[in-house]
Amino acid sequence: MLDIEKLKKEIPITEEIAACRELLWNNPGCRHHEDAAPSEEPIVDIDEAEARLLRFAPYIEKVYPDVLEGIIESDLTEIPEMKEALAMDTEGVLEPVELPGRLFLKCDSHLPISGSVKARGGIYEVLKFAEQVAMENGMLTEEDDYSILAEPRFRDLFSRYSVAVGSTGNLGLSIGIMSAKLGFQVTVHMSADARQWKKDMLRSQGVIVKEYPDDYEAAVAQGRREAEEDPNCHFVDDENSLDLFAGYSVAGKRLKQQLEARGITIDEEHRLYVYLPCGVGGAPGGVTYGIKEYFGDDAYCFFAEPTHAPCMTLGLATGLHNRISVKDVGIDGRTEADGLAVGRASALVADAMESRLDGCFTVDDSRLYPYLAILKDTEDLFIEPSACAGFAGLKYIAEGQANVPAPDEDSIHIVWATGGSMVPEEEKNSYYIKGKMEV
Ligand SMILES: *Cc1c(COP(=O)(O)O)cnc(C)c1O
Repeated sequence: MLDIEKLKKEIPITEEIAACRELLWNNPGCRHHEDAAPSEEPIVDIDEAEARLLRFAPYIEKVYPDVLEGIIESDLTEIPEMKEALAMDTEGVLEPVELPGRLFLKCDSHLPISGSVKARGGIYEVLKFAEQVAMENGMLTEEDDYSILAEPRFRDLFSRYSVAVGSTGNLGLSIGIMSAKLGFQVTVHMSADARQWKKDMLRSQGVIVKEYPDDYEAAVAQGRREAEEDPNCHFVDDENSLDLFAGYSVAGKRLKQQLEARGITIDEEHRLYVYLPCGVGGAPGGVTYGIKEYFGDDAYCFFAEPTHAPCMTLGLATGLHNRISVKDVGIDGRTEADGLAVGRASALVADAMESRLDGCFTVDDSRLYPYLAILKDTEDLFIEPSACAGFAGLKYIAEGQANVPAPDEDSIHIVWATGGSMVPEEEKNSYYIKGKMEV
């Protein structure tokens, strides 16, 4: 049993986390702050993952002609009007922030096929499984043009296999849509937080959706149990998957190319600050891993979590990683940021972030909708509530509260917008109206 009172005494921030207060946690273990950075073993091979995605590009282009060159990537969009609006005092729930440097949005909200950051890791893992099945059955080699995978003989093959996943929503969408397209049988175990339209959309594509009155952890556990009973079932383990992690990590390499294409070089004088919404940790963890591999010590990464589901902040701050849940400190785990409604962090990611992540901050749900509305008004971009969490971190960096060099006019800030383009119009409107009322 965890002795929570003792924990609160030894690690005072635990008390603040338990009180659901908005806070910034600076990671004392981040290698920036060490005199001699320890050399670290690579966790995944980013080049290998990227090469696999390139092999699949002809297939993706064939079955999704809208996906340019078959590469699932999003725009990096500068949002100067948003930056200006954030500096204004509206006397609402958002304090004005004067941010030195340029502000960008990484539009994973608009990633093709499934409209969220999960299109990186989730689709990568399904493709890798399909490749493995096809190769084991002697029907595919790396030298083939992968567009053959759209042929009926492959659908027949894949229909003898199944894929399962537990999800708060968006991972289920990515896994479900891609698996169904390839021809796999697919089951998505959805937590109570998942939005109805996500379940409806999956069912319309032939995906089996099982619902759990419980939270995300329960949905994942049930999915894992059912998958274990079936040797032909591949379980996408959101809490431990290296394949998901590898798929996300490719973003770091692509981001470097995107910045270079804009003539932006990141170095000691042109620092990069990245703000990433975090649920179980896989997506922001993989992206951070990739960013640190490609930008080294000139990039600073922060996770954003809801005050009611701060699992990574709690896991890292206490050093207990996945051995503590937000429920252990009396937090309900309920949040409007459905994609972030996770009570226990991924062990894999918590370990990987111990020396790589610069810090975490938490955000109250009441701020998410105002950010959503202001972004829509200023830049005509819609992103979902979870995806807005990153904006709440700008103030900590701007005010120099983080244990990293303060930003200046040469700094680049990237808020990672993790989802939103697939949200039905009606829901988009209701989120927007909610935001307008709270601004
Ligand atoms: C899943 C998700 C995240 C966080 O990803 P994790 O891998 O769960 O940490 C952030 N935003 C949105 C919109 C998501 O769907």
